[in-house]
Amino acid sequence: MIAEAIKEIRQRIDNAMVRSGRVDKVMLLAVTKNHPVEAIEEAARAGITNVGENRVQEVKRKAAEYNGEPIDWHLIGHLQTNKVRQAVPLVEMIHSVDSERVIREIDRVARNREKVQRILLQVNVAREESKSGLEVEELPEMIELAKTLPNVRVEGLMCMAPYEENPEVVRPIFRVAACLFEDMKRHFEPGQIKYLSMGMSHDFEVAIEEGANIVRVGTSIFGQRDYSRN
Ligand SMILES: *Cc1c(COP(=O)(O)O)cnc(C)c1O
Repeated sequence: MIAEAIKEIRQRIDNAMVRSGRVDKVMLLAVTKNHPVEAIEEAARAGITNVGENRVQEVKRKAAEYNGEPIDWHLIGHLQTNKVRQAVPLVEMIHSVDSERVIREIDRVARNREKVQRILLQVNVAREESKSGLEVEELPEMIELAKTLPNVRVEGLMCMAPYEENPEVVRPIFRVAACLFEDMKRHFEPGQIKYLSMGMSHDFEVAIEEGANIVRVGTSIFGQRDYSRN
């Protein structure tokens, strides 16, 4: 049951917070890609207020069908420049900004809509070939560019760790991301850089211990994704 699973995840989040002596808050972002709208409605009844999707088309379809408690949609999958126009009106936050072209396009589209789009910069800390995200070396340049774009508000970093049987193995990756996050703060107004989005079903506890304050959890809430449905 979704409500039960959410309760259990929240308990595990709380335990990880206590273990690390943290008294701030963690956002549980429920990742609903490949799950039906009814599952989102059920999660929202169980108190979920932030939902993550990977594809713009899927957000668009689901946001139109959704009929439940108020929720904010987050885009966490790779975003192509030609999808920005559709994404901006729909989403509260884009976690996966990883190129100059995309950030400029977000700014342009947001300006036309008189919106300031909240974003995170995705960093490929693990340097995985297969993953999107900025290289660590590209981060300073993106930060400087972001500061010049009035309709984009950078609020932090997003990072993905490779899948490892033992999540302890990826702890150093989360630790590097947390350092980059801390360092980023001094480039912006005090208080602007506040979100470190890292940790998924199998590694969110380690991520929290290393400072994550948004965890993106799908499988542990909704079960395995059924890709045959799409
Ligand atoms: C699918 C996905 C998640 C959730 O993964 P689970 O292992 O199902 O919890 C988190 N972040 C991103 C970017 C994803 O694509």
